[in-house]
Amino acid sequence: MNSSRGRIITDCQEIAALAVAREVENMTFRTYLKQLPLTSETLDGLVQELTGRVTAQIDCTQCANCCRCIHPLLDAADVVECTAGLQMPVEKFEEVYLEPWGDEVGKYAFRELPCPFLKQQHCINYEHRPANCRAYPYLDKRGFVFRLWGVIDNYGICPIVFNVYEQLKAELREGFVAWVEYGDGNWMWGD
Ligand code: SF4
Ligand code: SF4
Repeated sequence: MNSSRGRIITDCQEIAALAVAREVENMTFRTYLKQLPLTSETLDGLVQELTGRVTAQIDCTQCANCCRCIHPLLDAADVVECTAGLQMPVEKFEEVYLEPWGDEVGKYAFRELPCPFLKQQHCINYEHRPANCRAYPYLDKRGFVFRLWGVIDNYGICPIVFNVYEQLKAELREGFVAWVEYGDGNWMWGD
């Protein structure tokens, strides 16, 4: 069997399956990262370097999986921005497309998933998309080590996150494997 390690994977179905298969490994790696004697800034630097490398090899216009799977959150400024692009009154936009998000006052999500503005793999309101959409998948935000639950959630959805997390494991593999073997040894590195 060919190992899936070490190559860039962009197939979202393959990534979703690998996310299930590597769930324990990913949780274990999260714990490893939390105890590494690296500063948060050093880890951020490494993640940003890997993100640059991976992003250069992935075409988001051929993917759009985030627009199919994730509800971006919108605030009032996002609503104004979106309606400017669509040339639609705010009240109409809210009525047709939005619903309140949980208990958070002033936060909304699109009613539909996939996003109603995704047409044939493209965002028809791209220049006026919400800030959440611009920032996704958040890998250039500071404090990667403090956001690892979110990273693992996105690992099975976003090819950029998947490949960056995999490359991070590869970069730190020697120490990671030694740390696991020194610990309970319950988890084995697979294909
Ligand atoms: S950000 Fe991730 S999920 Fe979204 S289109 Fe790009 S690669 Fe796909
Ligand atoms: S607004 Fe555009 S970028 Fe954001 S989820 Fe919808 S289609 Fe994707």
